[in-house]
Amino acid sequence: MAAADLSRLIEAAANTIAAHAEELTGLDQAIGDGDHGLNMKRGFEAVRAEAGAFAAKPLPEALKAIGTKLVMTVGGASGPLFGTLFMALGKEISAAPDRANLAAAFGKAIEAVAARGKSQAGQKTMFDVLQPVHEALLQGKTAADIVNIADSAAEATVPMKALRGRASFLGDRSIGHMDAGARSTALLVRAVAEAIERRA
Ligand code: ADP
Ligand code: MG
Repeated sequence: MAAADLSRLIEAAANTIAAHAEELTGLDQAIGDGDHGLNMKRGFEAVRAEAGAFAAKPLPEALKAIGTKLVMTVGGASGPLFGTLFMALGKEISAAPDRANLAAAFGKAIEAVAARGKSQAGQKTMFDVLQPVHEALLQGKTAADIVNIADSAAEATVPMKALRGRASFLGDRSIGHMDAGARSTALLVRAVAEAIERRA
């Protein structure tokens, strides 16, 4: 991937997180501790600050370095999980990925997240967005479809009862609110998919 393209993806991701930080905080206030917006903003601004250096690396090394930066800066439960996602993606992806390589690498990356978080689908976490996005990639869906699938998957966490993370402490009271990490994951999927589309 050309350096300019990776820079644009980083910009798009950081912009959407910044624009939705308050919304993410609000979601986390309802069933968590209200830091998710700030956590994500801190992490993605740190990545944005070094976008040039990341973009100068080959894609696998860039993704590994971004993942490491996110682990160091996001904090909370989500930092190590998003960090793992990017680091594992970097380990599996090729320097110029085609759709098949992207789908396979994304599959390994979400497996790494599941292992790290002891998570699976249906537990009201970011994994509830990651898994359908992987399915959609495998099925060769368009970017527009993938964006809609991610948004619907985040919506689908509303009626779920949280079984992982802080929200799980609330038991049934976690029902009726969208999971903050599912929402931030859907926002990132939209930003990246739309930025890739614009380039194509
Ligand atoms: P914290 O919960 O430590 O305050 P954040 O608020 O930044 O951290 O992130 C919360 C989000 O992290 C949740 O909304 C959920 O999507 C995700 N999360 C928490 N624990 C897990 C887990 N074990 N597996 C997958 N995702 C998780
Ligand atoms: Mg929180």
